[in-house]
Amino acid sequence: MRDDDPIESLAAMRHEFGEYGGVNMSIETSTTFTVMRASTLPAIFQGTHGPEGGCYLYGRHFNPTVHALGRQLAALEGAEAAYCTASGMSAISAVLLQLCDCGDRIVASDTIYGGTFALLKEFLPAKSGIDVTFVDTSDPVAVEAALNERTRVLYVETMSNPMLRVADIPRLAAMAHARGARLVVDNTFCPLIVSPIRLGADVVVHSLTKFVNGASDAIAGAVCGSTEFVLSLMDLHKGALMLLGPTMDPRVANEISLRLPHLGLRMAEHGRRALVFASRLRDRGLTVIYPGLPGHPDHELLRRLGHEQYGYGGVFSVDVGSSQKASELMEVLQNRDRFGFMAVSLGYFETLMTSPASTTSSEMSDEELRAARIPPGLVRISVGYTGSLEQRWRQLEDALAIVGLGIRAGQPAGGRQ
Ligand SMILES: *Cc1c(COP(=O)(O)O)cnc(C)c1O
Repeated sequence: MRDDDPIESLAAMRHEFGEYGGVNMSIETSTTFTVMRASTLPAIFQGTHGPEGGCYLYGRHFNPTVHALGRQLAALEGAEAAYCTASGMSAISAVLLQLCDCGDRIVASDTIYGGTFALLKEFLPAKSGIDVTFVDTSDPVAVEAALNERTRVLYVETMSNPMLRVADIPRLAAMAHARGARLVVDNTFCPLIVSPIRLGADVVVHSLTKFVNGASDAIAGAVCGSTEFVLSLMDLHKGALMLLGPTMDPRVANEISLRLPHLGLRMAEHGRRALVFASRLRDRGLTVIYPGLPGHPDHELLRRLGHEQYGYGGVFSVDVGSSQKASELMEVLQNRDRFGFMAVSLGYFETLMTSPASTTSSEMSDEELRAARIPPGLVRISVGYTGSLEQRWRQLEDALAIVGLGIRAGQPAGGRQ
């Protein structure tokens, strides 16, 4: 485990005061900004004056409130710079379009978020001629074989969905860099738990929609990286964020910035509850996938790369044997017990449950599901922190009994092993 704590970098960042000395920053909603001298405008267009010097131009370019949230996220991720976007998908697509031209190659993990998979599998190759190869990024031989001289990006998620494999970021960074490619990491599942840039990644992308915002009331994203890279995305003539325009509203930036101070408390509690539920379900003989459990193939890797105080993540998966059992269990948990909601997404204060084979990974064919080793009876649970832990556990135990999975410790499970 690493002993540096990313929350300290966030707290050490210069505090943003409000316009009248308020303890919170002000929200700047203006979409255009004045200058005192006419000569300043051309200087902003040429890029010699910018937000660091207090020169703002237009709301699709830098906005002071969005920029302040970007500075906070950069501190949290240990990046030189960051900027925020209207969604996680827009952050991902802008980064890939900025780094790759027609004919360039992206080597991507074969178990990634469904939207990213669809973007890489069909959309980008068809629209832009970018060549994408999917590999099992847990297999260094496969990664090495896929990298070639046209490879610009090696793309992984810190923790894959729904099998929760952990990327060996230092090793993947070294492999990418040896070929002159950049390692881009989607850290949506692991804010504070893993700091990919501190481990050698070049760019981190986030869906802030999930744990970072934590209230399932805003769609938002971010890109963290070098100052040079973030400025290139915002370049008035050549920047993917500037030209495609997935702009974050400053009101949303303000709301998300007010939730960063308690992100550490939230991640620790999501992780604490996920570990208790995962261990108890495993002890009852069910097949549980959670990197906090010693039996998970990446348990040791996450112990080595992660910050222990934030746990092993708020998401675990349990295989209940068939998609029908998965549906029955989720219906009882939602409609009888109010244990949580059947809904996609994750990182909410309430528990969210999905059956990945039929929802978030539905972009994948049966063959691709098999290749990604996603069992049909898998239920993915993003553990919330409302109610007490024991109250929630009793609800889970009762629901398992109702659907015929009320297995006592030591007995073999009905689900596949
Ligand atoms: C949700 C999610 C995204 C997409 O983010 P949006 O904010 O919905 O655009 C990307 N990657 C991962 C891992 C996600 O969970």
